[in-house]
Amino acid sequence: MSNLTFGIIKPDAVKNGYQGKIIDAILENGFGIRGMKLIHMTKSEAEGFYAVHSERPFFGELTDFMSSAPCIVLCLEKENAVPEWRVLMGATNPEEADEGTLRKMYANSLGENAVHGSDSDENAAIEIAYFFSKLELV
Ligand code: ADP
Ligand code: MG
Repeated sequence: MSNLTFGIIKPDAVKNGYQGKIIDAILENGFGIRGMKLIHMTKSEAEGFYAVHSERPFFGELTDFMSSAPCIVLCLEKENAVPEWRVLMGATNPEEADEGTLRKMYANSLGENAVHGSDSDENAAIEIAYFFSKLELV
């Protein structure tokens, strides 16, 4: 049975020109792309998306970064999509990420770490609905 997850190719990776390589890796690793668009979040859209982190000390820095430049939002499908996408992304801190993961290859820092992925099926559904209308998902 296939599941959905939500991903973002973050502003650093788009600015660095890694979006094509990341989409290749998504397809090579057996994910289907159900939705994809280039957007430029406002500060308040970024704050809404990361509301769970609003009490964290890095919330201001994170939402400034996520609203600083365009990113690509993705709805991905695969069996066990949520954990599978997190494995492909690698650890939050690129210094701790395994070889071959997207964060190891394309991220430069803990804050600007190339990609986002949902952490549960429940949050995946919430995050997909935050950015995509039904008409935008195939
Ligand atoms: P993940 O993106 O791996 O699920 P978290 O949900 O813990 O990680 O954090 C969300 C995002 O906040 C991270 O991807 C990263 O961009 C940023 N972040 C997390 N921890 C820090 C930190 N200590 N300092 C700065 N930015 C951070
Ligand atoms: Mg997270």
